[in-house]
Amino acid sequence: QQIEQHDILIIGAGPAGAVAAALLRQQGHAVLIIERERFPRFSIGESLLPQSMEFIEQAGMLQAVVEHGFQFKNGASFVRGEQQTAFDFRDKFSAGWGTTYQVPRADFDQILAQQAERQGASVRYRHCVLDVDFSGERPRTRVRDESSDGKEPPREYIVESRFVLDASGFGRVLPRLLELESPSGFPVRVAHFTHIEDGIARGEFDRNKIRITVHPEHHDVWYWLIPFSNGRSSIGVVAEASHLQQYSGSETEVLQALVMQDPSLRALLKNAQWDTPARKLTGYSANVSSLHGKGYALLGNAGEFLDPIFSSGVTIAMKSASLAAATLNRMLAGESVDWEQDYARPLKKGVDTFRSFVESWYAGGFQQVIFHEHQEAQIRRMISSILAGYAWDTANPFVAESKRRLTALEAVCA
Ligand code: FAD
Repeated sequence: QQIEQHDILIIGAGPAGAVAAALLRQQGHAVLIIERERFPRFSIGESLLPQSMEFIEQAGMLQAVVEHGFQFKNGASFVRGEQQTAFDFRDKFSAGWGTTYQVPRADFDQILAQQAERQGASVRYRHCVLDVDFSGERPRTRVRDESSDGKEPPREYIVESRFVLDASGFGRVLPRLLELESPSGFPVRVAHFTHIEDGIARGEFDRNKIRITVHPEHHDVWYWLIPFSNGRSSIGVVAEASHLQQYSGSETEVLQALVMQDPSLRALLKNAQWDTPARKLTGYSANVSSLHGKGYALLGNAGEFLDPIFSSGVTIAMKSASLAAATLNRMLAGESVDWEQDYARPLKKGVDTFRSFVESWYAGGFQQVIFHEHQEAQIRRMISSILAGYAWDTANPFVAESKRRLTALEAVCA
């Protein structure tokens, strides 16, 4: 069997894999990305946070992203019955980008992967990682070339590398192979979603913001509406699996039935064309017992995925890529590194910040905070920072002590 040699093998060319590849290329390492799909391919997760712009910039991909003409995004609006509030991310506590984009991920991920290739990374599309052997000195990854799409028998080969980064997202390649899966603390939730021709008239709503709508009766059920720059939007609903048992019909019918239950959303989407069958994802929250081991680290969704409510997924994926690439660059330069200290712990700091906010959202406390009539400007700026993705800025008390500060604020607003 053919054995190839590379410095770094990355599983998956999503945002985590592409950003990590570019950052490793900047230090001159040979990088091979193995990607199961052909790009462009659909992915859910279309609303970016301003914090992600820092990593896009670091990875040398900013110009390509800006010039594509994605929908500008400057904040988030929340609606619950008659209550409404909006956060402008430019008005925030932490320094850094205050704006970003809402992106069809097929286009966005393709741009990032192309940019990684432009910087010298090799990307092999329609090649699939089957397993990895970490027993020797160097990890040996077995790959199947499926690029002939069945026209020829698939060819298998081995890649030997100094290190493997698993950026396989919900593929969760190494967590499955190495039995690292550990239960998420969140209940099983389901998302139904699609893209629509939204038909929303100009001025009827602010396309520069993601719109989060809370179900009028069930406050743990919520909808996203993420407008794109071409008159289309991503629409989705999230609910506990048990709540959705009462619904029958196709994914599209369930999604439409739920959208029709909210008067404001129903009115906003009265002219929408539902031209694309909806999809469903169940039980996407996931965790692992460790984010690293001998010869590997887990990035983005291949590690932990919390919940979509605050659109934090791509930002966390890119943060993990940035931290892992920095650690790996030092390791490959011969320095001694401690993956727990240098990678896992700093990454988890921000993930834990988001976790406090996600828990508080579903328990209802954070909804009380944001819809409260009287809001102190500086506290609002601190919250705006978290919503903009600055979940690692420990100068923000809602990062440094997120749970305690949130609990105290909830008590004031109750
Ligand atoms: P991915 O983007 O999933 O990329 C992984 C890649 O690995 C894929 O291209 C896949 O084909 C490839 N792969 C998998 N297995 C293999 C294999 N065996 N061999 C080779 N390649 C493989 N995030 C946001 O930031 N904003 C949002 O608005 C948002 N909304 C969401 C809504 C829902 C309902 C859900 C479930 C998630 C949402 N997310 C959102 C999260 C977001 O989708 C992910 O966090 C993000 O895509 C993770 O990026 P990644 O690079 O880790 O993985």
